[in-house]
Amino acid sequence: MDHPAGPEIPPWKIPEEWNQALQSIEIPAQRRWDKLENARMLAGCVRQDLTEISTRIEAVAGRTCTVCEDICCCRATVWFDFRDLLFIYLNFGRFPAGQITRTLNGACSCLSSTGCTLERLHRPFLCTWYCCPAQIRVMEGEGPGTRRAFEALLNRIKANRKALEDAFIAAVG
Ligand code: SF4
Ligand code: SF4
Repeated sequence: MDHPAGPEIPPWKIPEEWNQALQSIEIPAQRRWDKLENARMLAGCVRQDLTEISTRIEAVAGRTCTVCEDICCCRATVWFDFRDLLFIYLNFGRFPAGQITRTLNGACSCLSSTGCTLERLHRPFLCTWYCCPAQIRVMEGEGPGTRRAFEALLNRIKANRKALEDAFIAAVG
């Protein structure tokens, strides 16, 4: 789940930058709420698909994460991006408490002794998109249709997240 490190990755690490990122969504959204019909519809589509895919992931996780000896969240570099914030705000009317960081031992700051502290729909999409080799094996063991259906759903979510961002920028730009 690692990504190339760079000055912008993860973005908005300090509170001032984080607050600016939130305001870049909240202020125009409140001013132009009536123009955001398309963006809100797309946010709803992503929510519906994420809810469906979460059910599938939880089933696979029950057979893999529960016995995993190399938990990916202990070394993951993940963060909220603009599309995550937009999706969360338009669906739930609020933002995450802060940007995700890594703890001193390299683990994701949202990882607790009982797993992730965030509900799945409130996690970065990256956490849902990532499928480890053990999970791929489980899906492939269920036949080619399972993985194909999973990937089709993921691709639709990715496309609608991009469309959501485009619709938001078009409405408030
Ligand atoms: S997603 Fe894979 S690597 Fe991560 S905790 Fe679950 S089984 Fe382990
Ligand atoms: S946000 Fe949750 S699922 Fe994602 S890397 Fe952190 S602990 Fe893992």
